[in-house]
Amino acid sequence: MDANATTPLLPEVMEAMRPYWIERFGNASSIHLDGQQAHSAVDRARATMAEFFNCHDAEVVFNSGGTEGDNTAIFGLLRPGDHFITTSIEHSAILQAAHRMDSQGVQTTFIAPQPSGLIDPADIQRALRPETRLISVMLANNETGVLQPVEEIGRIAREAGVIFHIDAVQGAGKVPLDVRRFGCHLCSISAHKMHGPKGVGAMFVRRGTPIDSLIVGGSHERRRRAGTENVPGIVGLAKAAELAMLSLEDGTMDRVGALRNRLEKEILRLSGTGVNGTQTSGAPGLDSEIWESTNPVPRVANTTNIWFDQLEGEALVIALDLKGVAVSGGSACHSGATEPSHVLMAMGLNKTRARASLRFSLLKTATDADVDYVLHVVPEAVEHLRAISPLAAGTLG
Ligand code: PLP
Repeated sequence: MDANATTPLLPEVMEAMRPYWIERFGNASSIHLDGQQAHSAVDRARATMAEFFNCHDAEVVFNSGGTEGDNTAIFGLLRPGDHFITTSIEHSAILQAAHRMDSQGVQTTFIAPQPSGLIDPADIQRALRPETRLISVMLANNETGVLQPVEEIGRIAREAGVIFHIDAVQGAGKVPLDVRRFGCHLCSISAHKMHGPKGVGAMFVRRGTPIDSLIVGGSHERRRRAGTENVPGIVGLAKAAELAMLSLEDGTMDRVGALRNRLEKEILRLSGTGVNGTQTSGAPGLDSEIWESTNPVPRVANTTNIWFDQLEGEALVIALDLKGVAVSGGSACHSGATEPSHVLMAMGLNKTRARASLRFSLLKTATDADVDYVLHVVPEAVEHLRAISPLAAGTLG
């Protein structure tokens, strides 16, 4: 239930990568046969990724994953005096990079979401300045799964002549990517969020985008990213992307969506619960039609973020872990202090409710039996923790 943190390799991905660790270990830059075999494998992977993004092969740059793609968009483009627009619900790979640019004379406007978790494109429009150089907005939020209106933001960027980057790390494999339709210049993805290997990713860089390489050295990746290609990783990323495209067409992601909906609906039967990233509040006996009509915010199929009144999310994470269920809490540990999630806080939750929130994110291999088991252990754990909770007893100020 923690697929947004990471996912296991699918067996087909492992099989596709295997030869490139041992027999076909060549350096893709070498001119001998071993090198050429590796080079061809990277070329084939590039063609698959071009299909995945809906772009030209030459617009695909392989890198080490989402953090590098996000950092590259910011450090590779922004210069002193530039203005940058992003949102307050981005991943730290964007937020921390923006903060670093602060000291280098780049001002950033952080757009807050609406209570639903959606960014209003009109807020982006209003934030534009003559010196705005870059807009960066995520496709899907990692905590709530809420899908952002990137096409509309792409239109605003185009009209303003501003470069547009999308962090699509949590959207890739869950919704079809189409960088032409999105109207972006840059788009970052990561293999390990879609059943591929860790430490490898790709970035779409629209032809002619004046971006500097973050890493310099050899002339790899048309001078846009130096360093010997991670051939097994790149092959694994492409295989994962190929399988992801299939899953979007063969009903797999619809099946995951139905599992997520069942999980969410059943948990909402517990009193004092609600979903972050929709307008839905927990009410016993909620019927599915009402549930669907009160749930209009677009989200990826695999994610739900639920608050539980009178609970510390952290305690529930631990209780569920002891039962073999991995979930993430609505808080993150920074330097030893537990801080409530910046995403949930930006959506207007108070600290107590943000801390009382849990993210359930399903693997695409999740089964009915997995959901049955989670639905078996969650109510027990919630009841037990509420019975002993100082929050419930009102003894914690
Ligand atoms: N962007 C988002 C939205 C993410 O969820 C993550 C990972 O959690 C990243 C970027 C970073 O990706 P990576 O783990 O590949 O560095």
